[in-house]
Amino acid sequence: MAKQVAVLAGDGIGPEIMAEAIKVLDKLKLDIKYKEADVGGAAIDKHGKALPQETIDACRESAAILFGAVGGPKWEKLPPEQQPERGALLPLRKIFDLYANLRPAKIFAPLADASTLRPDIIEGGLDLLIVRELTSGIYFGDPKGITEEEGFDTMRYKKHEVERIAKVAFEAARKRGKKVTSIDKANVLSTMVFWRNTVTEVHKKYPDIELSHMYVDNAAMQLVRNPKQFDVILAGNMFGDILSDEASMLTGSIGMLPSASIGEGGFGLYEPIHGSAPDIAGKGIANPLAQILSSAMLLRHSLNMESEARKIESAVEEVLNEGYRTGDIMSVGCQKVNCAEMGNLVSEKIG
Ligand code: NAD
Repeated sequence: MAKQVAVLAGDGIGPEIMAEAIKVLDKLKLDIKYKEADVGGAAIDKHGKALPQETIDACRESAAILFGAVGGPKWEKLPPEQQPERGALLPLRKIFDLYANLRPAKIFAPLADASTLRPDIIEGGLDLLIVRELTSGIYFGDPKGITEEEGFDTMRYKKHEVERIAKVAFEAARKRGKKVTSIDKANVLSTMVFWRNTVTEVHKKYPDIELSHMYVDNAAMQLVRNPKQFDVILAGNMFGDILSDEASMLTGSIGMLPSASIGEGGFGLYEPIHGSAPDIAGKGIANPLAQILSSAMLLRHSLNMESEARKIESAVEEVLNEGYRTGDIMSVGCQKVNCAEMGNLVSEKIG
């Protein structure tokens, strides 16, 4: 039976870039049904809330969610919990227990000059994946609070929480460079001693994967000193939050980066890391590549279609090698294309 994917395009450039991702997926002629549903500001306008029940139901009956972007000035005056991002993405993460956040940071060779790093540091390509625990750790631990005299939070990890995120990292490494660097602060924090011990225990089931441990302060430094040493970086919620932003900025182009938030049984939500870009919405000039690459991640992680995922990624690489660029990644001597033209070029390279 055909698998179903819920398609939540959202606001701003969301629908424009989503149309291109679906165009590329269609070209692969996969046995997938796409179910569109409203989310974000568009859903507030139509149904009165950012995540209507119909949308939750559409996601529940699907194997994965392909998400565009939500938000915009029109909804900024609503109470925070009703706004598009808080009102849609946070509940989706909670309802589907999306505990693993996967953020690749890859520099496509022809875009190397967009990086803030010296060319010799990224020569030969930077390609790493950050696996961040998303639903526990210091952002969620109890007790937390503020009094006149102090502010406090609790960093806490349960064994099963560390085990399941470590598994995600080892499985991901198996499909890549077979190396995991686990980030902690085991020299200072008890939670992190526990983290290191648990990751080491889980590693016993993955003898084909090389595991090393690194303190978070050193990792922050190594990411700018020698980022090519990394394949998969495994981190808890707060350290992963910081390191994934640092790593994505090394690539220099926000319109290029996909992400995934994964739950049990392979279910996941896949989205570009950028927002709804209201400043360029409706102009047809957005870069659709982060959305297209998010659909490749969906095929890889939720539908087990590794070779199809690679087809999409290679097609993107070829188009960039041939010198085609949307405005945000434009450089001298390249051919400027709009959103739909970029989608056409990528889909022409497939099959
Ligand atoms: P943004 O990522 O939307 O835009 C930042 C800058 O990058 C803008 O100049 C924009 O034009 C550019 N940009 C982003 N994506 C691009 C693309 N694909 N092609 C070309 N240029 C691109 O961030 P922002 O301006 O801070 O936020 C705008 C809205 O998006 C806000 O309402 C915010 O809440 C929302 N947002 C949503 C998500 C999400 O849906 N996950 C994430 C971040 C921000």
